[in-house]
Amino acid sequence: MDEAEGITRDRLYAKADYFGKPYEVIDTGGIDPSSTIPFNEAIRRQAEVAIEEADALILVVDGQVGLTDIDEQVAQLLRRIDKPVTLAVNKLDTLDRQSEIHNFHGLGIEHLVGVSAAHGLQVAELLETAFRDTSWEEEVPEEGGPLKVAIIGRPNVGKSTLINHILDDERCIVSPIAGTTRDSIDIDVEIGGTPYRLIDTAGIRRKKSEHEVVDKFAAIRTERAMERADICILMLNAEEGLTSQEKRIAKEIETMGKGCILLFNKWDLVKGFRMEHCLESIRKEAPFLGHCPALFISAKTGRNLEKVFPEVDRVAVSAAHRVSTGELNRFLEKAIQKYHPPMLKGKRLRIYYVAQVSVQPPTFVFFVNKPDLMIDSYKKYLINTFRKSFPFSGVPLEFSLKGKVDRHLVSPKT
Ligand code: GDP
Repeated sequence: MDEAEGITRDRLYAKADYFGKPYEVIDTGGIDPSSTIPFNEAIRRQAEVAIEEADALILVVDGQVGLTDIDEQVAQLLRRIDKPVTLAVNKLDTLDRQSEIHNFHGLGIEHLVGVSAAHGLQVAELLETAFRDTSWEEEVPEEGGPLKVAIIGRPNVGKSTLINHILDDERCIVSPIAGTTRDSIDIDVEIGGTPYRLIDTAGIRRKKSEHEVVDKFAAIRTERAMERADICILMLNAEEGLTSQEKRIAKEIETMGKGCILLFNKWDLVKGFRMEHCLESIRKEAPFLGHCPALFISAKTGRNLEKVFPEVDRVAVSAAHRVSTGELNRFLEKAIQKYHPPMLKGKRLRIYYVAQVSVQPPTFVFFVNKPDLMIDSYKKYLINTFRKSFPFSGVPLEFSLKGKVDRHLVSPKT
């Protein structure tokens, strides 16, 4: 169970788009610095972490109520923070009430915008003001750098213990940290002579007192780590098995086209059920994970940890593997001979050939007469047979169909 589950007024995250520029909104539960109620303390601490994570801050005040002590205290707190702050004066439901923003100049926040959240008034203006100093420059992905391996999993699953174990191993040489990002901490290491960049999502270097609050950030941090990684190590608690949260993470890893290996941790605590049992449930619950190498480890005792990086290497090789067109088409011929594509409304799907068009993730295109003749069960059959024929261990595969161009529909442009 998530440690911080007791906090119901959680921050909300949402992905959004500002004229083509992506951003994320973090909605805090509200701040009341004067309150002594522990519930409010939790919300305040969440807001503090949100402030730390954010690039731009918007303080929302109630334009109908007018200036309150709380607004003043929060504004004072925000003024000390070296990030662009914008004051949104809300509930100004008509444009002629815009002048009421001047009642809030006393807060000492230079940039004010009157808005109506309920009516969606002035929202673009608010965003433009809030993003005045924001730069959208993307991190340029490094070509040919070390393999990037993200270690992800729910709080308490054993990520920090694993990382500490890896770093303490005498075969591991830790390089000075090359780049520390806000969301995850990168550790450059060499294990048995091979360089890796570990993306650590555990936030182990954070203050212990922030623990449960930080855990709430785990979701967003995990997502960013997965985006940057080549391979994800998904740690599960072997005693608890696969939870819905992990199913969602697995789906995301697959959608992002990343390689994945599964570590069933805390195997030292498991009594009375077998590895096959665990693997069987994974195959049923999360089909993609069924293709991923799985290890039963104990980050605490060190059991099987020496197998982790050789497995990571195998998945990396899979992700970059290319199958020749000859091999692919021999596979296709056999598969079609065994089961012919079914007829649909008197027409039969014809598959002319298949080619691999890219790697990481390996992507295949089947050239057919009419894509809409492909029915789900036949697609499943082809993919399953494909998976059995080619060893793409731990890597999601992408398949698409391309139809024959209908000459009657393509008329030369005049
Ligand atoms: P994180 O939140 O994912 O970084 O998890 P931690 O590494 O902090 O581990 C959470 C707790 O589980 C700690 O008390 C660890 O000592 C314990 N733990 C981690 N791995 C194992 C393991 O393999 N076996 C056992 N018995 N305990 C473990």
